[in-house]
Amino acid sequence: MTITRRRLIKTVCLIGAALLLKGCRTFEELPIDLESWQPAYANLEASGELAQRIEQAYAIMEECWLCPRRCGVNRHRDQKGFCRAPERAMVYTRQPHFGEELPLVGQWGSGTIFFSNCNLRCVFCQNWEIAHEGWGYPITDAALADMMLELQAMGCHNINLVTPTHVMPNILNATRIALKKGLRLPLCYNTSGYEHVEIIRLLDGIVDIYLPDMKFMDGVQAARYNLAEANNYPEMAKKSIMEMHRQVGTLVTDKRGIAMRGLIVRHLVMPNRVAGTREFVQWVAENLSRDTYVNIMSQYRVEFRAFEYEDIARAITSEEFVDAIEWAKRAGLTNLDERALSQYEIHRRVAR
Ligand code: SF4
Repeated sequence: MTITRRRLIKTVCLIGAALLLKGCRTFEELPIDLESWQPAYANLEASGELAQRIEQAYAIMEECWLCPRRCGVNRHRDQKGFCRAPERAMVYTRQPHFGEELPLVGQWGSGTIFFSNCNLRCVFCQNWEIAHEGWGYPITDAALADMMLELQAMGCHNINLVTPTHVMPNILNATRIALKKGLRLPLCYNTSGYEHVEIIRLLDGIVDIYLPDMKFMDGVQAARYNLAEANNYPEMAKKSIMEMHRQVGTLVTDKRGIAMRGLIVRHLVMPNRVAGTREFVQWVAENLSRDTYVNIMSQYRVEFRAFEYEDIARAITSEEFVDAIEWAKRAGLTNLDERALSQYEIHRRVAR
């Protein structure tokens, strides 16, 4: 068929119009059906309990025990504990994030808010400028609420709160403010796992998606690779993750595969098996459920001060990653992250 000038112009116009229409999604194409979906916190607000929880959370800051460090400082009086966090939340950045697990990313990204500071502070931290050095700026709870709403307006599928533990009261208050202005996305609590189980209980009925790390299964290793010893990390993380699982169960997605509610557990494979991957997968199988969504991650890098520690001063080998996934399969885990399984296929070929 001969392409005439007129036909060419018509085709270009049609393609342009199609692209424009894709950019202007209709209501039906929005990531979440805003009319029917109710995030957990909306139900709690309707029952009149959300305000009470916020009050309880802010009271904990008076002698801060928001995390297992239990510093006892009065954050309302500008006293700072181990995490160095002030009373106000500090944010480094916020953005639609496409590097998270696929059910969180969907089509339009996970609405990620990176909080400054951290209550764990690993020596191999990949975000050390934000977590250790506290890069970021303080914001009011009202401004944090506006950030959540902006991410929703961008089409993100959830509000992904990265390192939320030390700013949990601010998050709850901001969520309530945002809810009144139309926030309808599920909250995703993206934590290092160094949590106090009583604090996690306070989040029951507020958080829809929990995204904890399980970094170490052994207290000696946890203490070795944190700036201030956290030898109770495995105990605290295990109890907290079991409570998260009790609250939200296994991951539930909508018909497009986008996460709406449930638990995703992350585990970073480390060199020389220091993270205890074999024990981790066994623990999940025995204490959560075999269909728990588990992301066994291969992206360990020698960052921050990791080069000072002989055992972790190198990347992982293909054999180490292959072993990790095979242990998970042998433990009977049935819901392993898709991208981790693709990585496994690549490493398997290299390891042969
Ligand atoms: S949140 Fe910070 S100040 Fe509070 S107990 Fe934990 S480390 Fe200490």
